[in-house]
Amino acid sequence: MDYAERTQRATDNGLGDLLAAPTKNQISFAGGLPDPQLFPQQELSLAFATALANHSGDQFQYSDAQGFRPLRVQLAQLLQRDGVRATADTIAMTQGAQQALDLIARLYINPGDTIVVEAPTYPGAISAFDTYEPHYAGVPVQSDGMDMVALRRILTARHVKLIYTVPDFQNPTGTVMSLAKRRTLLALAREFDVMIIEDAPYRWLRYDGTNLPTLSELDDGQHVIFVDSMSKILAPGLRVGWVHANQAVINDLVALKSGADLESSTLTLRGVSQYLHDNDITAHITALRHSYRHKRDVMLQGLRANLPAAAQLSSPQGGFFIWVTLPTAVDTDALARQCKATLALVPGSMTYPLHDHHNGIRLAFTHCSPAEITAGCARLGHAVQTALAA
Ligand code: PMP
Repeated sequence: MDYAERTQRATDNGLGDLLAAPTKNQISFAGGLPDPQLFPQQELSLAFATALANHSGDQFQYSDAQGFRPLRVQLAQLLQRDGVRATADTIAMTQGAQQALDLIARLYINPGDTIVVEAPTYPGAISAFDTYEPHYAGVPVQSDGMDMVALRRILTARHVKLIYTVPDFQNPTGTVMSLAKRRTLLALAREFDVMIIEDAPYRWLRYDGTNLPTLSELDDGQHVIFVDSMSKILAPGLRVGWVHANQAVINDLVALKSGADLESSTLTLRGVSQYLHDNDITAHITALRHSYRHKRDVMLQGLRANLPAAAQLSSPQGGFFIWVTLPTAVDTDALARQCKATLALVPGSMTYPLHDHHNGIRLAFTHCSPAEITAGCARLGHAVQTALAA
């Protein structure tokens, strides 16, 4: 029997491959996976043991579609320290940031609606949105974030429903949106009455310099839905993410969430809440930053040593990814296929909404050891030289 038409773009998204563990002999720069050595395994085990041992048994019961309230209180405190005016009421828990993207798209997008995404952007966002059959308008990413002139042109030409952005250490380019552009983006959202999705899972992971205010903080409370996650700073296997927005939007997202899966695992939310109670997560994040900064530097060094001078590298101040632009003679879809047995990469085409760019590569530097990063860069250099010579 035929599938629903809306699934046509969404079923062949390749995301499963991205998150797969590397095979034997393969080094993977593909998925945005944290370093497994850095999971706070003992602390999480203790916290979950405490959550499990709760005598009331509430950890095994249905609970609350918005998610375990004490955890929302803790997250609101964490966000407030970052200037975000969140409260327990204006936060809703989701199954990772990914479910937040799905629910927001479900709330806003009719088939054929135009939504703006950065070009390139996070491939998983394209997959989440694809199901709702939007028309994509891609806005080029410059070294200081979205091209605001191109964005204004699009907003003037057609009605736009949503603008999706990753302002801090963008996936895939690593770019940070400047303060001036954050202000311009919000002014445009107000002028054209468009909702912005601010997806911020890498915001905590800055290796140099200081953070700029979030769009959410700079907003008037009406034009930003802030999305965040424990995946990059604690562990993605928890599947704990959250959204913060004005109360009306949160209420509607919670209603959709209950239709989708009733609620997130109350046991998991209690375990994470216990972890935050018993530990200083900011100290843990400091350790992550230290390790990932070093890995970023090792990868940049390896790429500079092995890629031709014509290759352009981003130099991210945080996050998980380095973006490489190769001469147009190299088709990175073919390159990724050719290296796959020994080196996994994300070809740039996956990160463009229309999959129409073919000389970029996204490289994650977080998952591998420094020695693997160095070896992987040599493999990449060899593959690129071979492609250029062909
Ligand atoms: N947004 C961005 C920008 C991401 O990079 C990712 C994960 N790679 C997600 C959302 C989804 O994260 P989660 O594991 O919280 O669902």
